[in-house]
Amino acid sequence: MKYLSTRGHPERRRFCEILLEGLAPDGGLYLPERYPQVDDATLTRWRKVYHEQSYAELAFEILSLYVDDIPAADLRVLCHKTYTAEVFGTGEIVPLRHLENGLWLEALSNGPTLAFKDMAMQLLGHLFEYELKRRGEQLNILGATSGDTGSAAEYAMRGKAGIRVFMTSPHGRMSPFQQAQMFSLQDENIHNIAIDGVFDDCQDIVKAVSNDLDFKRRYRIGTVNSINWARLLAQVVYYFAGYIQATTSNEQTVSFCVPSGNFGNVCAGHVARMMGLPIAQLVVATNENNVLDEFFRTGVYRVRGSADTFETSSPSMDISKASNFERFIFDLLGRDGARTKALFADALGREGQFSLGDDPVFPATRTEYGFVSGTSTHQDRLNTLRDTWERFGQMIDTHTADGVKVAREHLQPGVPMIVLETALPIKFAATLVEALGREPERPPRFEGIEALPKRVQRMPASVEQVKAYIETQCAPASGKEEPRWIEP
Ligand SMILES: *Cc1c(COP(=O)(O)O)cnc(C)c1O
Repeated sequence: MKYLSTRGHPERRRFCEILLEGLAPDGGLYLPERYPQVDDATLTRWRKVYHEQSYAELAFEILSLYVDDIPAADLRVLCHKTYTAEVFGTGEIVPLRHLENGLWLEALSNGPTLAFKDMAMQLLGHLFEYELKRRGEQLNILGATSGDTGSAAEYAMRGKAGIRVFMTSPHGRMSPFQQAQMFSLQDENIHNIAIDGVFDDCQDIVKAVSNDLDFKRRYRIGTVNSINWARLLAQVVYYFAGYIQATTSNEQTVSFCVPSGNFGNVCAGHVARMMGLPIAQLVVATNENNVLDEFFRTGVYRVRGSADTFETSSPSMDISKASNFERFIFDLLGRDGARTKALFADALGREGQFSLGDDPVFPATRTEYGFVSGTSTHQDRLNTLRDTWERFGQMIDTHTADGVKVAREHLQPGVPMIVLETALPIKFAATLVEALGREPERPPRFEGIEALPKRVQRMPASVEQVKAYIETQCAPASGKEEPRWIEP
């Protein structure tokens, strides 16, 4: 399997080559040259694999279709090291639970940081460690987070040999619980950088540093943000596991509703659907930052400025643009790299928006690709949290509440709707208290973390200052030893 760029660069790369990288050289995103097709017999076999063996083994089966430069025996070990009941709380790893007629929740948030990002990041930690050891190299991971990505990355990479993490986050914008989760880590290889700005300022810094190819090479900069292909691939697995749990026959279809920000999670659903998984609808649920809902309703993709990017009570979806969206548009446009480039590099750069509303391909977003969408506001969130608690005795988090609200608008008779539970309520306790007048349950291992000492550097939104900090941290402690990650 080879990978190509959404912007038409002629180079083709292999999985382990793109594993440690972010954007393609032309600024595009990597996608596989083709989507492997899962036939009826394979899907039937995978049912058995999941029910009678394990989620880890299902992950191995799916990853094998995309990864041909890691020996199968090694890949299997990596999957089994990652997806254990100890790390993810249950043997099913992603159990479904019933909410009401036709509506299910798929639990993706029982990993170390209580958000779905652990599902991919824990695997990435093992993949990175494996590949770096094989190459005899080191890596400095530079990331941007509005909360959940950063903690998931840090908990996946902490203490891993050959890896440092430099994680930028918007100062003061994460919940106290999220800040405590990240900043309380005392591991030497974890560096928290609080930026005076919004999440997109952090993301722009990561992009600017990654686009400085000389700096990137010299300091071995890699990323783990949601544009990383390996992360997306790891997320494909739980769409299969959700389908397998909700159905007994391959004749049945299901829909997924996905609380969305950067379009990473639901893009994995798109990949699963392209592989032949019988998905009826992919329901995109946004909060007040409804860039994606606007596109799927009107065909207009309009990037928001900082002033129009709202701070909401589902903050992990507070985005001004959707970093992974280019992957879907590339497929929608029949994989026309030149046209994708014209839209994302030229039109967006010039006008901050483009429209496919009048383009003949636009209706295919719904008819051929199954996408529909909706928006949920703070008031909707409160109502949904209350309703779910009062009627079903279940506490869900604010992002998942956005999913439940929008899912109900797209229910179809006879088609199970699976809402992806993207975090546990304790991460966003203030809004739960506002809705229910009570604190959400806190898993015992997180008792008192807000009081722990914090390790964090605060900085203005300056690419140069972030680079300088990385340089300092990578400099040898004494003059004696030449650090291996700086090229001679
Ligand atoms: C990251 C995140 C999302 C959004 O996921 P995308 O892949 O960016 O669309 C939704 N909910 C929670 C809790 C998250 O952490």
